[in-house]
Amino acid sequence: MTTTRFAPSPTGYIHVGNLRTALMNYLIARKAGGTFILRIDDTDPERSKEEYVDAIKQDMEWLGLHWDRVERQSDRLDRYAEAADKLREMGRFYEAFETPTELDLKRKKQLNMGKPPVYDRAALNLSDAEKEALRAERGSGVWRFKLDHERIEWNDGILGDISIDAASVSDPVLIRGDGQVLYTIASVVDDTEMGVTDVVRGSDHVTNTATQIQIIKALGGTCPRFAHHSLLTGPQGEALSKRLGTLALRDLREQGVQPMALLSLMARLGSSDPVELRSEMAELIEGFDVNRFGAAPTKFDVQDLFPLTAKHLQSLPLADVADAVSDAGVPADLAEPFWAMARENITTLADLKGWWELCRDGAEPLIADEDRDFIAEAMALLPEGSFDGETWGKWTSTVKEATGRKGKGLFMPLRKALTGMERGPEMATLLPLLQVIRAKS
Ligand code: GLU
Repeated sequence: MTTTRFAPSPTGYIHVGNLRTALMNYLIARKAGGTFILRIDDTDPERSKEEYVDAIKQDMEWLGLHWDRVERQSDRLDRYAEAADKLREMGRFYEAFETPTELDLKRKKQLNMGKPPVYDRAALNLSDAEKEALRAERGSGVWRFKLDHERIEWNDGILGDISIDAASVSDPVLIRGDGQVLYTIASVVDDTEMGVTDVVRGSDHVTNTATQIQIIKALGGTCPRFAHHSLLTGPQGEALSKRLGTLALRDLREQGVQPMALLSLMARLGSSDPVELRSEMAELIEGFDVNRFGAAPTKFDVQDLFPLTAKHLQSLPLADVADAVSDAGVPADLAEPFWAMARENITTLADLKGWWELCRDGAEPLIADEDRDFIAEAMALLPEGSFDGETWGKWTSTVKEATGRKGKGLFMPLRKALTGMERGPEMATLLPLLQVIRAKS
């Protein structure tokens, strides 16, 4: 059965880059009727925080990315220790004692000689006595996985055929000197034991994948299908990594971005399918195909989310936004006509308040000197009784006849006098609302 996972480290809030990973894995699982696991990669006790675990869950719930179960790596440390023992017994695991400064120096030397900065495996030549002495001097070493120097190949769901020379990659450190298990092995053990069939993650993980494929094989597991999506850049192609902090999902939520707008964009951006606003998750699931994504960096412009948000809001019935309408101060009996007027004129729900205040308090009329008499005459012609959807049309016809004005010269001064603005809601919808509200207050 298809099983995918989204595996964030709870060391910060999740952002649009993480969302891409989460969404792709979610859509693959749902399309196949499989399982979607939320895996919390919390093997680093210093950097992992419970508040981020909660925040990740809230953000995913906000988007409707429901998981079938949660797994936590911190609950599974014994499984990783067992896998490490197995690798040790197989002779694929070795202790190394270089300090970060020593490693840095080695890398610099290699680069100076025009060689790739790959760990030279000096630790493999240490005798037991030398290791003992180093341990006494420096404490426990790190544990590295001894790669087989052959080509590591896989067919990537996005990048196509990949072939990496294992000799060009350093033997990965899987356990730190202080005993902390690192993601590379924890992830492999989890993916294998949890039957993960498909792994989609960022292309910054390609080298990890190469080493993980060897670790999976060494441990006797089956490799999942891998797909590495491109990284997001800013609208001009600039690196987004530094700005991702400001593109946290909770910031977007604060700014009024609607979940379906965000999901619709992220499910298509960087693929050969056009971005189209969808109203239901089911449509996104139905139309999703990871193979349609390209390897080139994907440009992301946060501004694209606002027209999609506006379009989404326009499509919603009052029932879906009743809380926001009420929070804007609109009384329940006016919510229906107010929403019908306002929804065409907002970008986010935060704009409702301004329209409500305009309806309630009226605007500072904008009347040009040359329009003063015209406006006075028009106002005198406003029909008696309660206004409806026809009132605006009838009134403006009467005004047209009486004053001889037409087109923009007729409508614009009236709009500006009533709303204080040159643009805004359909006057036919707004006029009855203004009257009802004025009458009530
Ligand atoms: N915790 C890892 C990360 O956030 C997971 C990567 C993976 O999907 O394997 O980068």
